[in-house]
Amino acid sequence: MRQSQLYTKTRKEAPADEVSKNAILLTRAGFIHKEMAGVYTFLPLGLRVLKKIEDIVRHHMDTVGTEVLMTSLSPEEKWKNTKRLDTVDVLMRTGPANEVSKQKSSNSYILNPTHEDMITPIASEYLQSYKDLPAAFYQIQTKFRNEARAKSGLLRGREFRMKDLYSFHRDQDDLMRYYESIKPVYMNVYRDLGLGNDTFITVASGGDFTPNFSHEFQTIVDVGEDMIYLDRKNNIAYNKEVVNDENAKKLGVDFSTMEQVSACEVGNIFPLDTKYTEVLNYTYTDQDGSKKFPFMGCYGIGPSRIMGVITEKFADEKGLVWPASVSPFSLHLISLAKEKESDTAKKAEDIYAKLTSAGVEVLFDDRNESAGAKFADSDLIGIPMRVVVSDKSILAGGVEIKERTKDGSEIVSIEELFATYKKNCE
Ligand code: ATP
Ligand code: MG
Repeated sequence: MRQSQLYTKTRKEAPADEVSKNAILLTRAGFIHKEMAGVYTFLPLGLRVLKKIEDIVRHHMDTVGTEVLMTSLSPEEKWKNTKRLDTVDVLMRTGPANEVSKQKSSNSYILNPTHEDMITPIASEYLQSYKDLPAAFYQIQTKFRNEARAKSGLLRGREFRMKDLYSFHRDQDDLMRYYESIKPVYMNVYRDLGLGNDTFITVASGGDFTPNFSHEFQTIVDVGEDMIYLDRKNNIAYNKEVVNDENAKKLGVDFSTMEQVSACEVGNIFPLDTKYTEVLNYTYTDQDGSKKFPFMGCYGIGPSRIMGVITEKFADEKGLVWPASVSPFSLHLISLAKEKESDTAKKAEDIYAKLTSAGVEVLFDDRNESAGAKFADSDLIGIPMRVVVSDKSILAGGVEIKERTKDGSEIVSIEELFATYKKNCE
């Protein structure tokens, strides 16, 4: 893509109303646009990152479930049926905004913050026999929550992206077998996102409906709102909320020897047991003809929050730093040609055309800006590899390549550049 077609510009000044590093940098680099606290538009560069994150999530979820897309709006009845209308503390309602709209329909709706209340009735329509179980549906979708504090940019949105998976089982054993199988799948997601080394399965509270614990996936990051007790030797962590004498005994662990670190919850899995199937009176017919409540699990990941976490973890004093797997582009090609018709300009165009047709994702800075401005923008945008075409680089034998996180650069021939990137695309 040509940089001129992004239609966004970088800015030097931090937005006055942002305090979090992720919102400041992502805004300055033109990835997101704030609509109000906790509500952001994804601009071209930001959307590319979000899509990459969601594609990685989708790739792994396809191995354990089937994708659906549920609605953002729901009737209040659904929330009454599960007895959650008056109790979910982030629930939001929407309705007609003016009189003329009200004349068309005065209905109001819930803006869904999660989808147990919707998926359970859907499952009950289709999964009625033991032969239909187990089953698992997932979606990647926009959620709405009336969060108290929304000052952390993408880390805590009032409108945000979530992947939510729901599984249905004959009994608790089957639920727990599936539940355990999700843990390594989640870790593969974080590995592919570049967060593998700093993300830990974390024992957390199970809520009020299961005596079991739930498990969070916590990524170590300074700005994280959670405190975890980390047992590095056993590769597991404990959310501070479960750290007490009773649990130490129950789990056979010694919390006092563990490291305490700040972390951000990037995923959460819950054994829901029969909480929703019982309240909705959803039963299936078992092999012996008896009616039973299916056991359920739910499993969340926060793609937009993850974009914020990656920003917070990897950005440096010059700007964003993207892991290759989620970078908006693989290469930032910068032309320093002074004249549009010069040999150098033609070489840059040629390199752009060839790399693009070979399937390499290239952001091509074809703008009429100074070298200094282009380099500063490139550092701010944070694509892992910068490729400069200039009169000087051509004289030296090709293009100048530089990794975003390293100081030195080197000259490689244009053939060598193609060979490297073609290989990466195969
Ligand atoms: P938190 O404790 O941080 O409020 P939660 O436990 O309420 O999160 P879940 O209901 O478990 O969140 O949601 C699943 C995932 O969605 C979370 O692990 C997180 O990655 C993401 N998520 C939750 N709330 C938000 C939010 N307000 N903004 C962005 N992502 C969120
Ligand atoms: Mg959670």
